[in-house]
Amino acid sequence: MKILVINCGSSSIKFKLFDMARDAQLASGLIERVGERHSRSVVNVNGHSHTSDEPIADYDQGVREILRSLTTIGDPPPLQSTDEVGGVGHRVVHGGETFCESAVVDAEVLAAIEKCCELAPLHNPANLAGLRAAAAALPGCPHVAVFDTAYFQTMPPAAYLYPVPHEWYVERRIRRYGFHGTSHRYVALRAAELLGKPTPNLITLHLGNGCSAACIRAGVAIDQSMGLTPLEGLMMGTRSGDIDPAIIFHLERSGVPLEEIRTTLEKRSGLLGLSGVSRDLRDVERAAEQGSVRARLALDVFAHRARKYIGAFLSELPQCDAIVLTGGIGENSVMMRRMILEGLTVLGVSLDPQRNDRRGPEPFCITRAQSRVSAWVIPTNEELLIARDTAELVQRGAGRGRRAETLAGTPHGA
Ligand code: ADP
Repeated sequence: MKILVINCGSSSIKFKLFDMARDAQLASGLIERVGERHSRSVVNVNGHSHTSDEPIADYDQGVREILRSLTTIGDPPPLQSTDEVGGVGHRVVHGGETFCESAVVDAEVLAAIEKCCELAPLHNPANLAGLRAAAAALPGCPHVAVFDTAYFQTMPPAAYLYPVPHEWYVERRIRRYGFHGTSHRYVALRAAELLGKPTPNLITLHLGNGCSAACIRAGVAIDQSMGLTPLEGLMMGTRSGDIDPAIIFHLERSGVPLEEIRTTLEKRSGLLGLSGVSRDLRDVERAAEQGSVRARLALDVFAHRARKYIGAFLSELPQCDAIVLTGGIGENSVMMRRMILEGLTVLGVSLDPQRNDRRGPEPFCITRAQSRVSAWVIPTNEELLIARDTAELVQRGAGRGRRAETLAGTPHGA
């Protein structure tokens, strides 16, 4: 079965096509600047890259263009006909408390995703637009929604409730949800295979432009660093992560408009804000090596905050089988891995500098053989997991995935 995976952002569409019988990726690509005057489409088939600067007006045109490329580019192209697509998997950022696993999309599921738009106003509307465009282009094909939040619906109330008036949760759904769930789930499954332990205790760190940490006890996610939105938690490329909320009132009192504070915390903080150099860790590392004090500080704060979360999550586990690093930074930055893990010797992590001095597509262990807690680099593959969920639901013919038990609206803890 061939499965198309689609990930729609606010002005972009990423896609991958898989042949599930061979677990092989057949094609991938990206359309940027959808709806702008100069779009850019890149399609990769058989190791060859094809680019086009034709304007793409909207998601409908974008999806049609992707299907056209997949049936015409390459010799032979990855699809003879669009009828070969057995299912489409869609990344959806927010599933609220409604979805604890992936779901075949029907009118009810679409309505539930729409209801979650108020929780993720920047992401869910784009995901929905992509879903509708793909459903219009491939009407006979099952579409599956895979949620970033679903994996963390197993968090207990002690981890997901904020210590604020309980009505905020019951009436406004203000609670911690956690994001990057597909990535954390993928590396946790790979770690279970690598460790030969089906239900391991893990701390997983997804360190990319967005960064998050997850705590997994006996194979079940019990805590996560991101909250109501992906702004909470670790320091990121441009997002602040945890701050004292009183900073916002302090700035507002001194005349800074609320909207400016919001965009600063989302787009001009983190590595970019502290270093003044870039949101890209490679640039910050280079600047630090060349003597930039602010760049060095940005690296120190980044590592310090990651260590704090690892320490906190260790305290939630009976014992830790592995710390797993993934995402562009986790997979590639030898320096940042060292900065984070060298500070954890007291917790039983003994980094092996030679093992750490490595990159590559396969997972590898970066701690010494005698390390009480092992650490691993496991490259993530969110699209493959979305494709697997889609194929599984299509084969099962399932109407919908299991629904999460919801506490909102019940007198829980009242
Ligand atoms: P996204 O969250 O957008 O998917 P990625 O997972 O690709 O992002 O991660 C992007 C981050 O990974 C950037 O900060 C980038 O600097 C960092 N990164 C990628 N390659 C390297 C490298 N070789 N060394 C250090 N950092 C790297």
